[in-house]
Amino acid sequence: MSWNAIASFGPTALSNLNLTSQDLASRWRSAPPGLAEASSHDLYLSPHCDDICFSLGAFARRRQQGVLLTLFSRSGYVAQPDTVSARGDERIAVISVLRLREEQAFARQAGLRLSLAGLDEAPLRGHHPFDITGVDEDARRLNAVIAEAIFATAQERTQKQRPWLFCPAAIGGHIDHLVVLKIVLRHYEALRERWRIAFYEDLHYAANWRSRAAGLARFRQLAARIRPRRSLWPVGEAADKLALAALYPSQFEQPPASITALTPALRIPAPAHEALWSAEHA
Ligand SMILES: [Zn+2]
Repeated sequence: MSWNAIASFGPTALSNLNLTSQDLASRWRSAPPGLAEASSHDLYLSPHCDDICFSLGAFARRRQQGVLLTLFSRSGYVAQPDTVSARGDERIAVISVLRLREEQAFARQAGLRLSLAGLDEAPLRGHHPFDITGVDEDARRLNAVIAEAIFATAQERTQKQRPWLFCPAAIGGHIDHLVVLKIVLRHYEALRERWRIAFYEDLHYAANWRSRAAGLARFRQLAARIRPRRSLWPVGEAADKLALAALYPSQFEQPPASITALTPALRIPAPAHEALWSAEHA
C-alpha cells in the first residue's frame, strides 16, 4: 500500500489502525505482572455508582481487596423514571440511597471498602451529561474536592511497592468521567508517589466500537506524555460478570443478557474482557 493511499485514510482511520495494533498487542502479549499484584490499599475511582462494576467488576472481584471511591454519588438517574414517585429534593435523596444500596451490594461481592464523595452528578450541576463544552471549567472547580477525596484514602508508605489507582479513561464522553480523568492527569506525578496508576476502559460505552475508538483517541491524546499501553483481562465466566451488573437493577430497563454489552468492542477476535491502560508495568 502506498503512503498516498494511507494518507487518504485521514486521521480517524489512522487512529483506528493504531488502536487495532494496540488491541492486537494486548491480545497476544501477557498482561504486565505488576498489574496482577493486589493490595488492600488499591483505589478504584468510580465517577458514579456502577462504573467500577461494569468496567472492572470481574477484575475487582478476583482481587477481593481495596477501596471503592464513588465520587458523583448524588444522583437523580434511574433507567425507568416512573419507578420512583418522589419529586424534587426528595427524589434525589431516594434515588441516591437506591443507588448506594446497589453499590454496597457490589462492594461486598468484590471485597471493597466503599467510600462516597457525595458530589452532584452532571444534571444536578445543570449540565447535560454528554455535553463536554464546560469540562475544563468543571475540572477546575472540582479539582480541590476530588484531589482531596483521593489523597484522603492514601496510606503512609510502609511497603516498598505502591498500590494501584484505577481511573476511568472517559470513553463515552460523560462529562463526570472526563472531569475525573483530567484531575487525575493533572496530579499524575503527585499521585504516583502513592500509587501506580492504570486507566480502565469505561463500560458499557467501550462496547460500541465507534464510541470506544473516539474515546480512546481522546484519552491517548490527553495522556500522550505518559505513553500508556493496553492490557486485557478476561472476565472468566460471562454469567458471573452479568450477575454483578444485575446488582444494579435501577440502571437498566432490562439487565444485559449478553456479555457483548459489557466487553470492549475490538476489530479482532477476543474473549470477553475488561481492559486497562498503564505506563507502569513493574
Ligand atoms: Zn458513570
